[in-house]
Amino acid sequence: MAFRSINPFDGVTLETFDAWDDNRLGRALEEAAAARPAWQGAGLEARCAFLRRGGEVLRRRRDELARLITREMGKLIHESTAEVEKCALACDYYAEHAPAFLADEPIASDAGKSCVAYQPLGTVLAVMPWNFPFWQVFRFAAPTLAAGNTALLKHASNVPQCARAVEQVFREAGFPEGVFRTLMIPAAAVGRVIEDERVHAVTLTGSEAAGRSVAGAAGRVLKKSVLELGGSDPFIVLDDADLEPTVQAAVASRYLNCGQSCIAAKRFILVGSVAEPFLEGLRAGAEALVPGDPLQERTTLAPMARHDLRDELHQQVLDSISAGAAPVTGCAPDTGPGAFYQASILDHVAPGMRAWEEELFGPVAIVIRAEDEEQALSIANASRFGLGGSVWTRDAKRGERMARRLECGAAFVNGMVKSDPRLPFGGIKASGYGRELSRHGIREFVNAKTMWIR
Ligand code: NAP
Repeated sequence: MAFRSINPFDGVTLETFDAWDDNRLGRALEEAAAARPAWQGAGLEARCAFLRRGGEVLRRRRDELARLITREMGKLIHESTAEVEKCALACDYYAEHAPAFLADEPIASDAGKSCVAYQPLGTVLAVMPWNFPFWQVFRFAAPTLAAGNTALLKHASNVPQCARAVEQVFREAGFPEGVFRTLMIPAAAVGRVIEDERVHAVTLTGSEAAGRSVAGAAGRVLKKSVLELGGSDPFIVLDDADLEPTVQAAVASRYLNCGQSCIAAKRFILVGSVAEPFLEGLRAGAEALVPGDPLQERTTLAPMARHDLRDELHQQVLDSISAGAAPVTGCAPDTGPGAFYQASILDHVAPGMRAWEEELFGPVAIVIRAEDEEQALSIANASRFGLGGSVWTRDAKRGERMARRLECGAAFVNGMVKSDPRLPFGGIKASGYGRELSRHGIREFVNAKTMWIR
């Protein structure tokens, strides 16, 4: 099997990579195992110094890495640039805070001295998606490596160049051989890696189906897992919302990264009389987006990452329209070699339609109307997913009351859902379990060990 790096803007193959055979994979697992004792023994301060250098490499190579991301998965160049910068920020954040997050926690007991000591678990496998091909990796790797684990990356098959480049960043920053390793393996080989005794835990960011498979494999061998899965975040607009900034945030949240973000606003739940003016604003915003070459600054709507994902999205849209949803704008692929899909809106989406039940991982907003805030909340919570959600209102207290009742891992009031190294990130329900980022993220792959000394 070969991995193909294809530019989604024009369909041109950029490079192909051979998948590793079992020998090559075995060597990488051995190298990760061999690197562990020295990496753990180096101490937290030394590991943080490596991370700082990682941040420096990212900043120095920012423009080149951003171009690579855009060419391989299609996102707008300024989004790629921001992604690389955010990775550097995550390196700096954990370099600065990991020592405090992992310091012994004294706890008074019947011992002379008792505390919790945070110790690394071992080697952690990360199975990652293509939508933020650098950020997803660094938000896992920075805390996990700082904690003293070694890391293995199985990246999505359509971003092999990014996978290789991430490993190069760590190498260039001077990380010892084997501490961070990219595995060129297909999804079918992941189960075997999880089972391998040289691997101690696994984290997956991806779809529900992959989550079930990875969690099942980890469960069979009793290894720790963290799952960051899909979302269908509600964006509730109350009747007293400040319309202009709310519409701007809606357009940004839904169409960023061509709609391919787990925490994008996906279900627009509009309360009472706000529905028509909001929808008009959203339509104008969607229609103003300019598709084109994502390397050009004037382009504001990128192609999707792969043609098959675009075609699957279109089928979800067509099936929803057949079931009674009303297309407001877009709702069709663009012709041409690129994986373009028009910025789209579906109105009058109802239970049973694919657009209601499933995640739409592309530039399609769905609109649902609610009579009042109670109905809006019950619609928002009537979802398998529980990643993020936002409430828009001029009354922040009212917004907070509703946000507290949203069933999700991150609730925002008058702000679009975003990730921030300082705040925990993760979901509930079918959106997964465990947390990344902040002090919570670094504690996922450590042994919180009780120390009791008479
Ligand atoms: P995906 O198909 O699940 O792929 C994600 C990763 O899992 C890839 O590396 C893939 O490898 C691997 N994989 C797929 N099936 C697997 C299996 N049965 N066993 C082991 N590994 C498997 O997801 P995607 O379509 O690329 O990504 C989009 C999904 O990710 C969306 O649902 C999105 O919401 C979710 N996501 C969630 C978050 C979050 O933080 N919660 C962030 C970003 C994206 P191959 O590429 O080789 O198949």
